[in-house]
Amino acid sequence: MEEKEIYEKAVKHWGYALQVNQSIQEMSELIKELTKIFQGKTNPEAIVEEMIDVQIMLNQMEYIMKEKMGLAYHSTYESYFDKKLKRIEELLTASNNDFKAHKSLPKFCPRCNLELLWLSDRNGIVRYWCDTCQIFHEDKSS
Ligand SMILES: [Mg+2]
Ligand SMILES: [Zn+2]
Repeated sequence: MEEKEIYEKAVKHWGYALQVNQSIQEMSELIKELTKIFQGKTNPEAIVEEMIDVQIMLNQMEYIMKEKMGLAYHSTYESYFDKKLKRIEELLTASNNDFKAHKSLPKFCPRCNLELLWLSDRNGIVRYWCDTCQIFHEDKSS
C-alpha cells in the first residue's frame, strides 16, 4: 500500500473519533518524552519514536481535515503555514528582540562553564538551561 492509502484506510477502518483520540494519546507520549529532557533523562531514540507516532497521526488528521474542509483545506493550510513560518523569521531577524539581546550577552554554566541556553515562555520569563549538566540556572545578573 502507498503511504497516503494507509492513512485513508486507517481513518476509514477505525473511524475518525478513534483516530482523533489516538492522536491525543500519541501527542501526550511525545510530551512525556520531551519533558524528560528537563529532568536529565533524555532518551533520543524514544523521542524520535514518539515524533514518528505523532507525525503518522498528523498525517491521518490531515486526511480527516481534508474530508471536512474540502478544497478550503489547502488554502487554509498554506496561509497558516506561511504566516507562522514568517513569524519565526521575523523573530530571528528583528534587531531589538530578546533573542539577540540574550545572544549578545551569553551566560555560562557555573558548574561546567559552557554557554547556557535560554528559554523564554510566552510571558517573557527567561530561564537558563545547561545542556551538559541538564539543569536550569537562575539568572542572577538581572
Ligand atoms: Mg507513541
Ligand atoms: Zn553545565
